[in-house]
Amino acid sequence: MATKDNSVVGRRLRHFPVTTDLDNSEISVIVNELTGQHAGPTLAIVSGLHGSEWLAPIANTDLIQHIDLEALHGTLLVVPVANPIAFASGTRNIRDESDSPDLNRSFGGKQTWLADQIARVISQEVLEGADAVIDFHTGPWGAAMDVVACPSDYSNADLNERSLGLAKAFGRPFIRRGPMVSDFPGPKSMIGYAGEVLGVPGIVAEVGGVGFDLEVETAWKRILIDGVLNVMAHLGMLERPAGNASIAYVGAAHRVNPSQGGMVEALLGADRLMSNVAEGELLGRVWSPYTFDVIEELRAPVAGILGMVPTNHPARPGDWAYLVFERTQSPG
Ligand SMILES: [Zn+2]
Repeated sequence: MATKDNSVVGRRLRHFPVTTDLDNSEISVIVNELTGQHAGPTLAIVSGLHGSEWLAPIANTDLIQHIDLEALHGTLLVVPVANPIAFASGTRNIRDESDSPDLNRSFGGKQTWLADQIARVISQEVLEGADAVIDFHTGPWGAAMDVVACPSDYSNADLNERSLGLAKAFGRPFIRRGPMVSDFPGPKSMIGYAGEVLGVPGIVAEVGGVGFDLEVETAWKRILIDGVLNVMAHLGMLERPAGNASIAYVGAAHRVNPSQGGMVEALLGADRLMSNVAEGELLGRVWSPYTFDVIEELRAPVAGILGMVPTNHPARPGDWAYLVFERTQSPG
């Protein structure tokens, strides 16, 4: 774990070409590389694998201002917008004709599809040189979360423990630990591939969303920045008091999303995020913007913890609204 040979102290923008699209535009991955005065590990920060989740790219702007290069040990690699194509269209995935439009399901992909090619560049230029990685998945517009996830099923048991250590260090009250390689989001997700194939431990920070009150979003942004700084302290990259000591674990996730298109009305909103709900509790409603009839009630399928909340917004069938975590005592 030493500062890379080709690194220079300071901040530099690195530009890695991926390919050229049909409209002759170049597709590339931009990396902000911050290298401190002192030798140390390399932490990779990747946000925007999904183009509709743009709270983290905003938080990264402030994060960079918080890094004191004189005090920094090692290197911080920040990829604010991992998927510029989806970001430009405001969508989760790339809208193309491939079998693999989701960049976070394309790591290790060997095709020339856009997502496969971007994943290869991120793997080679960012992940392979990293000692740890944080992947950000905030909610898309109109939905928010607040949990840190880490895999429990890397073949290398040591990686599982190191990933859990990173998750605890991030400092949020709830951790979701489970089979993220073999189950969800799977071996071709960035976190699955980074650990299983490259041996890089990592976590997924699923905190915040966009479309909420400015004060609420600002607080989430602050949480993301603090979380990264906490992880950096855990890795010995900077000095910082320890974060939250009280951590609970959540179990299986139950999505409560509309099955029909309509207006989602959030009866439980951002102030209820990660609070307890009862089985059958009414969380929200979906009503028709054409007839004004309520066409669906969104109820908690189990008693548990409200892991995702929406704000009022129009939704297509399957769009995000609520999610309920089962409670669990074990860390997965
Ligand atoms: Zn995502």
